[in-house]
Amino acid sequence: MAQSMYVHIPFCDAICAYCDFFRCGYHRGLSDQYLEALKLDLAKQQPSTDLKTLYIGGGTPTSLQSDQLEALFQLLKPYRQSVEEYTVEVNVESLHANKISCMHTAGVNRISMGVQSFHPDLLHMMNRCHRTNDVVNAIQDLKKVGIHNISIDLIYGLPTQTMAMWEADLLQAAALPITHISLYALTIEEHSAFGRMGVTNIDPTLEGEMYDKAIQILENKGFHQYEISSFARSGYESMHNKQYWYYHDFYGIGCGASGKLDHQRYDMPKNLHAYIKGEQEPSWITLSQKDEMFEMVMMGLRLKEGLSYQAFEDAFHVSFDDVFKQAKEINIKKGELYECHRHLRATDHGLHFLNDVLLEFL
Ligand code: SF4
Repeated sequence: MAQSMYVHIPFCDAICAYCDFFRCGYHRGLSDQYLEALKLDLAKQQPSTDLKTLYIGGGTPTSLQSDQLEALFQLLKPYRQSVEEYTVEVNVESLHANKISCMHTAGVNRISMGVQSFHPDLLHMMNRCHRTNDVVNAIQDLKKVGIHNISIDLIYGLPTQTMAMWEADLLQAAALPITHISLYALTIEEHSAFGRMGVTNIDPTLEGEMYDKAIQILENKGFHQYEISSFARSGYESMHNKQYWYYHDFYGIGCGASGKLDHQRYDMPKNLHAYIKGEQEPSWITLSQKDEMFEMVMMGLRLKEGLSYQAFEDAFHVSFDDVFKQAKEINIKKGELYECHRHLRATDHGLHFLNDVLLEFL
């Protein structure tokens, strides 16, 4: 039984230049109808009410107005009884005091804030309009109501971004009273504004150096790396994201959301108007045991703790070595993987080149 649920809110206040996610500009009428459609989606999917994590992402959930946020939380109330981690993604621009208090009242105890950078030129280039002070104030306001578990996202590999600019962003982020930092390497998506403008990726060597610099600075400042691009203060690793990396089942609610249940993955249609009209039949993909074994390795090796042999055996009733001994040994010999406490882990080098490591497991 899945113990995690993701709920997608596709509306945003402004569209970021790098974004290729499923989202659209905020519209009051459309978002009202969307909330009604979510109700129908929940009634059809009937998720368990015994969830451990609940995650509202987007889009930008806080682009909804306060009364709509309240309606959303009301809708999700039956599912939050046993939730331990309740996360909402927010943007600084739309995080007003009344929305913060509404989230707190609803039991939200973790915030994922899209900051991306503190550098005004880079923010402008990405079509983000907040300033550093807005971030500081938003964090203070969240802490005032008792929401202390705050994660921020940072992007590296932006055009014109130098190593010095990246270092400054990392130091500024690490100095904030937050618990978690997620890093994203910029990829230029064809249908994003950057893609249409013909922006190209930065030199991959510099991008690799930026990643190394992030590990060095964040570890030094007390944020331990627990996953390829996730860093946390002790005790604040993302419970929800770990469900994905442990390859557990999860529900996906909302237009464009995905879920995984009972050896099947499903994708909700990405047509907003059809979704609102109630055309919400997901497309299902049945995962073969071979697919699932590979995906479990792929997700597990992202974690610094690695893939648990016991978890693999529990999932498939066969030993890891019976399936992947050769792939494992080749990578151990190359120095990309190692074994520790019945886990298979990537070395620092292996983590950098995880896609190459995984080729042996295909
Ligand atoms: S990056 Fe996030 S906030 Fe920006 S447009 Fe995309 S979904 Fe919206």
